Amino acid sequence: MTQEEFFKKIIAHSKEYGFVFQSSEIYDGLSAVYDYAQNGVELKNNIKQYWWKSMVYMHENIVGIDSAIFMHPTTWKASGHIDAFNDPMIDNKDSKKRYRADVLMEEFLTKIEDKIEKEVEKAAKRFGETFNREMFISTNPRVVEYKTKHDSIKERFVKALTNNDLTDLKQLIVDCEIVCPISGTRNWTEVRQFNLMFSTQMGSLSEEASTIYLRPETAQGIFVNYLNVQKTGRMKIPFGIAQIGKAFRNEIVARQFLFRMKEFEQMEMQFFVRPGEELKWFEYWKEQRLNWHLSLGIPREKYKFHVHDKLAHYANAAVDIEFEFPFGFKEIEGIHSRTDFDLSSHQKFSGKKIQYFDPELNESYVPYVVETSIGVDRTFFSILGYAYNEEKLEDGTERVVLKIPPMLAPVKLAILPLINKDGLDELGHKVFSDLKYDFNCQYDEKDSIGKRYRRQDAIGTPFCITIDHDTLNDNTVTIRYRDTMKQERIDISRINEIISDKLSFKTFLK
Ligand code: ATP
Repeated sequence: MTQEEFFKKIIAHSKEYGFVFQSSEIYDGLSAVYDYAQNGVELKNNIKQYWWKSMVYMHENIVGIDSAIFMHPTTWKASGHIDAFNDPMIDNKDSKKRYRADVLMEEFLTKIEDKIEKEVEKAAKRFGETFNREMFISTNPRVVEYKTKHDSIKERFVKALTNNDLTDLKQLIVDCEIVCPISGTRNWTEVRQFNLMFSTQMGSLSEEASTIYLRPETAQGIFVNYLNVQKTGRMKIPFGIAQIGKAFRNEIVARQFLFRMKEFEQMEMQFFVRPGEELKWFEYWKEQRLNWHLSLGIPREKYKFHVHDKLAHYANAAVDIEFEFPFGFKEIEGIHSRTDFDLSSHQKFSGKKIQYFDPELNESYVPYVVETSIGVDRTFFSILGYAYNEEKLEDGTERVVLKIPPMLAPVKLAILPLINKDGLDELGHKVFSDLKYDFNCQYDEKDSIGKRYRRQDAIGTPFCITIDHDTLNDNTVTIRYRDTMKQERIDISRINEIISDKLSFKTFLK
């Protein structure tokens, strides 16, 4: 299966099994906006809960807040978003499609990197154990040619971005002979900056109205509450404030499903530290956050660190954790050392002193900040994509199964009476009523048991409980495990205990 086919399957499966729907689909949808469906919302809530617990409950010095989406407009002046939260965009005059100029260039560079990797793989096969990768890359004429080209283009690209040189960015697209994937032509407009913030009016009369913005990141809600939380929570540096919430960006989007949305959700944690200690904490959080991803059971090779070539206006170090999405390695989480930029700037714009008195140093300072910022939707996409498996079974049939970590699965267990008579259905409802306080359960009595197992596999339900005629006599049921499809006979009274153990966050967080 190609990556493109896989991508299409994930989208189709998400719709067919009630995970994700296109927003306003009956009106032909709204571009890059999605709704979470009955199973999707459960998975999403479980992801958020897992992150929240790992951040807030697992650390004595991290607390959470939930700040409003609307904020005083000066917030965005102070944060730099009004002046600098831009993407360089370019239009193709023939297809009338709009692209991010930096993304076109990044994709071009990735293509050259892929060519180099192909040559390396071919040679590695040819030479076997004697193959020396470094030596090959530095001496093979074709690879050297690719690499020289790549490095010189990259250098020019980074320089153009750093200097905000839109003319040269356009020239690079021309020089690299990049064509529009839709029209196939090189008929490009100039590159222009495009601010990503959505604005609206607040105020009942138009004369009174003032422009406010839908927040493009949740972080600023934490910064403007820094003093309140520090004082009321009697927090001592180093400490963190976490938040989960919606953010909005007017993204120029190619079809990327949950990866790039206009309305999405972030899970952010701002960690306040002593000036000068930020890079130590940056390293600490980099490692902690990668471990969190690995705790989901996804292997290390699916992740990469990507160090930023161009730092944002507020950062003195930045790294992305990238995940291998169906369209290649892309950012799933950013870890940024934001210096004292945000707090100092809010101090300046608000005229209020934002300082911390450090009793150990006996001095006051504006704390430095290390941020971890992860997208809920990209995490959802990564978990769903990795969980999706098509399996050929021993009897020749096939099944699609979502091997979602049990503690995140939308439905934890399905209760399936073999037939819906002879009292089996009543007993099924009783088991449901007993267990519903502890788990999200589903009761299903339609179709053959085989079909019902397949339906539960397709939404990732880790446990199925089958009630049959023996249950009436000896109070035992069959428990079937999703991943191995193994079945066991157990006493009804043990269901809760067996399942609780396998669903416990503790096992994963430890
Ligand atoms: P990109 O370079 O992909 O646009 P970014 O660097 O602008 O991302 P950040 O501002 O660092 O992203 O945001 C932190 C996290 O929020 C990202 O790692 C990502 O998981 C998530 N995120 C950002 N923009 C979007 C979006 N448009 N749709 C879904 N998730 C997003």
